[in-house]
Amino acid sequence: MIPVNEPYIGEKEIEYVNEAIKTGWISSEGKFIKAFEERFAGYIGRKYGVAVNNGTNALILALKAMDLPAGSKVIIPSFTIISCALACIYNNLIPVFIDSEEETWNMDVFKIEGKITEKTKAIMPVHIYGHPVDMDEVLKIADRFKLHIIEDFAEAIGSEYKRKRCGSFGDISCVSFYANKAITTGEGGMCLTDDSRIAERLKRLKNLAFVPEKRFIHYELGFNFRLTNIQAAIGLAQTERIEEHVKRKIEIGKRYTMLLKELEEKGLIKLPVEKEWARNTYWMYGIVLNERLKIKAEEVMKRLAERNVQTRPFFYPLHLQPAFKKFPWYREQDLPVSRRLYEYGFYLPSGLTLKKEEIEYTATTLKEILDDLA
Ligand SMILES: *Cc1c(COP(=O)(O)O)cnc(C)c1O
Repeated sequence: MIPVNEPYIGEKEIEYVNEAIKTGWISSEGKFIKAFEERFAGYIGRKYGVAVNNGTNALILALKAMDLPAGSKVIIPSFTIISCALACIYNNLIPVFIDSEEETWNMDVFKIEGKITEKTKAIMPVHIYGHPVDMDEVLKIADRFKLHIIEDFAEAIGSEYKRKRCGSFGDISCVSFYANKAITTGEGGMCLTDDSRIAERLKRLKNLAFVPEKRFIHYELGFNFRLTNIQAAIGLAQTERIEEHVKRKIEIGKRYTMLLKELEEKGLIKLPVEKEWARNTYWMYGIVLNERLKIKAEEVMKRLAERNVQTRPFFYPLHLQPAFKKFPWYREQDLPVSRRLYEYGFYLPSGLTLKKEEIEYTATTLKEILDDLA
């Protein structure tokens, strides 16, 4: 089976992990945490990085640090991972879902303004599958309506918007280092900011809201979201080669595009794009079947699996999630683009360890399956 993803772990990771273990620094204290935070924040172009134990908790922590009044609304895309909505709900905030736009599959920034009310306090842009969101529009709206921006760039490590790195926008940006992300610590995440006060607050809140002066007196409620020094050792080794990982992702993406172009020209599928203002890093290489063919993603994925190519479905839109229906803020609505993406989209093997022959085999197999079905 050609796996949809496989992490790339080098010798450096083993060396650093060994050091962490041999020196006894196995909890969240130790030199690799700070080195990892600084190195990663430096790569993104942010002043401060605060490592946490996963990307979902990075989002929860970021919204917590914004101190928004309960019941405030946060604008998020419908086509994203559930973590974005969880971060709102667990902070007593209400997620407001925005449909995707057709080309990049990101949140349609021109649909944001229509959803803003008195209660709206923040926007969470999420760069989907490696392609940046049109950030100028988001920044403009946030400025005009005085909204916070919490950026989720878990899928866009190394991606750029107008030559500025994703993760460098807004009050706080959040990232995940789960095993399928462009760099990994197994499980892990980080919040980044340029504001020293916010950075201090994030550090305190992730560590049970301990304050240095009075160790066991707590002035507010925190979390234990600490990353371990062992995980940070892996993260530092990965970050030292980060551009290599990113370039490899881009190479894989561009090769798929070259090989699958003819399917797009025949009108059978839609491929990822790279807008002129973007550096797409093709975190996962997604394709969308033309709905006129009346073939669902599921059918093609099943056939690919029969021929040893692993795939994954696209996100199930958040505005349709059964788990949200019991909430008083939930309302039925049709966000047709995100729904269509779910029905007709899926992604191909995109891991860093993918071989040239595996990309070619995947493309050829997909062509044969679609020739047969269409
Ligand atoms: C992976 C991912 C997350 C969640 O990260 P975890 O580390 O798995 O909790 C959040 N947002 C996006 C966009 C992601 O892709």
